Amino acid sequence: MNIQTRLQSLQQRIRSALDRANRKGGVAILAVGKSQPPPKLLRAYQLGLKHFGENYLQEALAKQAALGHCEIIWHFIGPVQSNKTRVIAAHFDWVHSVDRLKIAQRLNDQRPTWRPPLNVCIQVNVGGEASKAGIALKQADELAQAIQGLPRLRLRGLMTIPPPASDFENQRKYLRQLRELKASLGYDWDTLSMGMSRDLEAAITEGATIVRIGTALFGEREN
Ligand SMILES: *Cc1c(COP(=O)(O)O)cnc(C)c1O
Repeated sequence: MNIQTRLQSLQQRIRSALDRANRKGGVAILAVGKSQPPPKLLRAYQLGLKHFGENYLQEALAKQAALGHCEIIWHFIGPVQSNKTRVIAAHFDWVHSVDRLKIAQRLNDQRPTWRPPLNVCIQVNVGGEASKAGIALKQADELAQAIQGLPRLRLRGLMTIPPPASDFENQRKYLRQLRELKASLGYDWDTLSMGMSRDLEAAITEGATIVRIGTALFGEREN
């Protein structure tokens, strides 16, 4: 299957999920390009996608160079190490994976003055899994308050990678926690970054505004 066909069926899945959830729209596709070569990303861009997500900094920089002529909005979605914040702050439009204050402060301090404030999401570990990045649900508000005070960051909302679940209802259970957390905190955030190839229907049902899609768009990763 080629990328155009995959994109069409992805868009159909999104439309059906929106219909079923009685939502009119408001879901952006973030094309997740990890382990995929630049020509595939270029193809997705030519088909109209604008938002691209990367997990690994070196790989991302190589792709940004290869696609420098494209007007792409770049999202960093992988774990952020503190010795990488300067480069990330300079080379990305969004960071979805902020889960501690030290990283937020460094991104704020290192965001180049010639760029607008960096869009960020707080990554929440909804399943409380030891293996996963993300702040605990209970600590998200404290981090949000601190980030609101950082002028070079624009806090847009919450992001999560839930524990794997095979059926719709179990997928919803974790994703719902992110929606409820956003509602309970009461900030004027516009972003819930959740939903991947396997659980995008559940995510859209629970209010996702950005779905992060790799394999359903590009096929299996070429590792
Ligand atoms: C790889 C990845 C995705 C995309 O996963 P698929 O299952 O391939 O759609 C989304 N978000 C993050 C953080 C990822 O690392």
